[in-house]
Amino acid sequence: MCGILCYLGKRPALPILLEGLRKLEYRGYDSSGVAIMEGGEVFCQKAVGKIQALEANLAGVTWQGSGGIAHTRWATHGRPSVENAHPQKDCREKIFIIHNGIIENHQSLKKQLLSLGHRFCSDTDTEVLAHLIEEHYQGDLEEAVKAALRLVEGAYGIGVICVDHPEEIVVARKGSPLILGIGEEEVFAASDVSALVSHTKEVIYLQDNDVAVLHASGYNISNLNYDSILRRTQQVEWDVEAAEKQGFPHFMLKEIYEQPEAVENAMRGRLIEQEGISKLGGLDGVHDEFLGMERLMIVSMGTSYYAALLGRYIIETCTDIPVEVDLASEFRYRKLNIREGTAVLAISQSGETADTLAAVQEAQRKGALVLGMVNVVGSSIARETDAGVYNHAGPEIGVASTKAFLSQLTILYLITLALARHQRMSLSEGQAFIAELKLIPDKIRRILDSASQIEAIARRYHGYKSFLYLGRKFNYPIALEGALKLKEISYIHAEGYAAGEMKHGPIALIDENFPSVCLAPRDSAYEKMVSNIQEVKARNGRVIAVGTEGDTDLQEICDEFIEVPATDEILLPLLMVVPLQLLAYYIARENGCEIDQPRNLAKAVTVE
Ligand code: GLU
Repeated sequence: MCGILCYLGKRPALPILLEGLRKLEYRGYDSSGVAIMEGGEVFCQKAVGKIQALEANLAGVTWQGSGGIAHTRWATHGRPSVENAHPQKDCREKIFIIHNGIIENHQSLKKQLLSLGHRFCSDTDTEVLAHLIEEHYQGDLEEAVKAALRLVEGAYGIGVICVDHPEEIVVARKGSPLILGIGEEEVFAASDVSALVSHTKEVIYLQDNDVAVLHASGYNISNLNYDSILRRTQQVEWDVEAAEKQGFPHFMLKEIYEQPEAVENAMRGRLIEQEGISKLGGLDGVHDEFLGMERLMIVSMGTSYYAALLGRYIIETCTDIPVEVDLASEFRYRKLNIREGTAVLAISQSGETADTLAAVQEAQRKGALVLGMVNVVGSSIARETDAGVYNHAGPEIGVASTKAFLSQLTILYLITLALARHQRMSLSEGQAFIAELKLIPDKIRRILDSASQIEAIARRYHGYKSFLYLGRKFNYPIALEGALKLKEISYIHAEGYAAGEMKHGPIALIDENFPSVCLAPRDSAYEKMVSNIQEVKARNGRVIAVGTEGDTDLQEICDEFIEVPATDEILLPLLMVVPLQLLAYYIARENGCEIDQPRNLAKAVTVE
């Protein structure tokens, strides 16, 4: 999820690695570290916080070694600390590894390794990999890495060095990006081209299951079975700034395109298909209280609040648990009746949202079971709740949340599944739910493939001053989120409404200058949505409809029609929101707005 950089060549590695880490800083990170091979030893230094802290720790250091690895960590397992920062090492301090991603089966592997006598000094999933490589090491680093990777489930981009092999770095990837940079008598590997482009434009994008052995004079790529693999060398034309955004003009668009992976990462290791259940490791400690809850209150702000609103619909649809949703800022003004059996779930991307944190503290004072869902590991809400689930969406840089929202929704589906299976949902229903959920990332990819159509719509509509967003049932919270996205980044007035509420006021505004974005997939609210669309049309309102693929009936009555693939109606929000994000993005771009940093907004709202 964060930054990896490896260097092997003729020049001292340390300054090159530190400069490269600074190029990776824009992604956000919580700690960093570096290891350099020199004179038959490996020197390692790590620090929490900014790269400057690492540089301060390295003041006066004169390591001249010309090979090494460096990392910026964005914690997923274990809080940000020096022990948990990478490189991680084995028991004998011979093998050093940097890792991006998540080792899903780290717990079972750690148990085995502990029984074999390995000693652990961090809480990371990554350290398991260091010991696993040590366990298989018999003098051949490549073989040991491959043997370890054969046992690993999950996602990784890794760089591994060993004191016995000062001329070699082994790198590998699966589900996490890794790029080789080929220079003159020097080789680089990085998770992000931005760390390479100042040194070389000649790169190789490694693919999943590739393992590359790097030497100063070149590299060798093979798979875990030693079949050798040829990968094309490409020239990157990007400068550093474009490289940071991987060629996307804005972080927000990049993050919209990262959503299929955000959904996959939220599900990773948390679904047991055979049993039709989800398993959220972070809730293990409160397992009985969680499954036995009699009432749930969800507190959050902004986009997370809309995720919570959807949570209410889906949990109440699939379980007998009544769910209340509150803006965290209003939660405290209520006379709360928190009886035994009440759980409070706080949702916040940053984990630092001041209002949500205050609600967490109040719920705790009242004696509720307090759960958290946050993206930033070790954040205040993560620390102050009784238990929780991490999003694993990776750093989100665009101020307007996109991939974190999809990730929050995904986890709410996992929570729903866990609760529902404990109640009346059958095994086959649970299995069908999982099967359908797993198809979502590819369906999102299909929507992203048709972005140019949405771009064209944005060109036709960017001049309007106000928009109405309408949805029903599961897609009512999505209408609210769609309107919020447009407001946030384009400064255009937009109102989200439950479509049924339209006749109670907003319809008075409708005319040819007030377009409506109507969410009308083929679900149980379809007919009623179509009636609402007719009502808008009867008042000369223009309609941009988002509906199910191939719905020509809908297409005929609307001015613009955006298709999403079909899925179970309960899962539709995961698809419906994507065109709305793109529409907001392209309208804002047409209007020349500051998309990644909209005026007056902050990424983490740490004041009440
Ligand atoms: N899962 C690893 C950890 O928490 C890697 C995190 C990252 O990708 O930065 O240490």
